[in-house]
Amino acid sequence: MFGTGLLKGLGVTLKHFTETFIDDRRKEPSRYEGSIQVDEKRRIIHQPISQEGLLTIQYPEERRLLPERFRYIPMLIWDTEAGEDRCTACGICAKVCPPQCIWIVRDSDENGKPITRPAEFYIDVAVCMSCSFCAEFCPFDAIKMNHDYELAVYDRYPQLVYDKEELTVPVEYYAALWPTQYAAEEAQRAKQKEEERRREEEKKRAAEAKAQAQAAGAESGAAKPKRSKEELEALKAQAAAKAAARKGGAETEDAEAAAKRARLEELKRKAAEKAAQRKKESGE
Ligand code: SF4
Ligand code: SF4
Repeated sequence: MFGTGLLKGLGVTLKHFTETFIDDRRKEPSRYEGSIQVDEKRRIIHQPISQEGLLTIQYPEERRLLPERFRYIPMLIWDTEAGEDRCTACGICAKVCPPQCIWIVRDSDENGKPITRPAEFYIDVAVCMSCSFCAEFCPFDAIKMNHDYELAVYDRYPQLVYDKEELTVPVEYYAALWPTQYAAEEAQRAKQKEEERRREEEKKRAAEAKAQAQAAGAESGAAKPKRSKEELEALKAQAAAKAAARKGGAETEDAEAAAKRARLEELKRKAAEKAAQRKKESGE
């Protein structure tokens, strides 16, 4: 019937309106269940769909509890344990950024040789489209997406061009915002470290085994007993006898070959005689 949907919608609004008053009569209204009281004024609220009463948040005193995968602008990770930036200034993030809003200047030593860390790092957050490509492609987990969305300022330049200091956060901050992803990355990192350690140990063991084998070979070479003069003479005599036997064999072979050649010549001669005889008989 015409207007049924409209009435239904108004009914839902009315239900929430009245439920708000009923709910507010409780000491802790249902919309505050599981909420986090940041300070006296600010509260972070998680609003499940099953919640009764008011569905509007009293921003800025009340804010939504953001899901882990919420992303706004990137942040650079400072490795607290290592005491350095994770960023190596490889420039991959700047290359993949669709609106090209990242600028990086690589650091260098006193001789002008490039160092794998950024001297300067800028993101124009007014241009950033929160696509997260930079975070996806960074091979060092050095750039991640921040949840902070309250960036309003009066002047775009230079306030919305964030420099390295403004972008950098400690790794603990990232771990608090993205606990699941952080845990997965750390597990992967630990696995890689374990694999590297295992490979190093294997290499070390192989090198040790090789050194031991070489030492054993050198020892056995040194321990080889020297032959006496008599033994050497006997060996020489044996070698001479073997050579003579080989020579005798060769001479025998030569005699056999000469006999074969003579027989062949004899057969050729007889064949020629027969041929001459046949020619004579046929009267040619
Ligand atoms: S943030 Fe990552 S991808 Fe970008 S320059 Fe640094 S290390 Fe490379
Ligand atoms: S989130 Fe996207 S647009 Fe923003 S800096 Fe990263 S790659 Fe560029």
